[in-house]
Amino acid sequence: MENMEGWIHSVETFGAVDGPGVRYVVFFQGCKLRCLYCHNPDSWKICEGQLISSDDLVRDILDYKNFIKKGGVTFSGGEPLLQPKFLLSLIQKCKANGLHTAIDTAGSVSLAVSEEIIREADMLLLDMKTLDKELFPSYIGGDMQTVLDTLDFCESIGKPVWIRHVLVPGYTLVKERMEQLAEYLKNYKCIEKVELLPFHKMGEYKWEELGYDYHLTDVRTPTDEEMALAKQIFGITE
Ligand code: SF4
Repeated sequence: MENMEGWIHSVETFGAVDGPGVRYVVFFQGCKLRCLYCHNPDSWKICEGQLISSDDLVRDILDYKNFIKKGGVTFSGGEPLLQPKFLLSLIQKCKANGLHTAIDTAGSVSLAVSEEIIREADMLLLDMKTLDKELFPSYIGGDMQTVLDTLDFCESIGKPVWIRHVLVPGYTLVKERMEQLAEYLKNYKCIEKVELLPFHKMGEYKWEELGYDYHLTDVRTPTDEEMALAKQIFGITE
């Protein structure tokens, strides 16, 4: 197993919301997408943050093994699949140490690059942004097809997937769009769970600090009633 270097934004040693159980979460640098609601625009540039080797990072992860042995390690971002060799090295080393691994991805990297890594990981947390082809370019940027291909590939190899979907009023918190996505996802046996995440503006100040134009200043957060309706549409009962 090769020792590879890569750029990370930060780590969270006791993550409780990024996959099953208590997890060590590694946030990678680098993302090609430009989601309007992104709360980590400081992770977009790849060669920033901390340069670290997979050996050193796994050594740190193993310091927490007792706490995460029933959970695992999640590689998030940014987009972790943009540093494929580094990510693969980390996954292999974590698995060799008996740790469960999850990739939190927006599916923005083509299968030509991601396939081998997806096979190696235990599961995917896949951010499905929208199925609306008209909306996708201005709301997210990038190519929607790579997301759909990623999900199809997981289905073909039986890789467990948790879908994550951010609900933004006026964009994705729209009944027809939610119904369209819920209907689409019903066809996939690999999907174990759908998580709906309410839009928030906690990252707005970062856009301003970095000199980017933030377009959602006037968009409010979803109400409890709207979240309840969304859960009903997606058949979420918990
Ligand atoms: S995929 Fe994630 S990191 Fe990239 S722009 Fe979207 S929200 Fe931000």
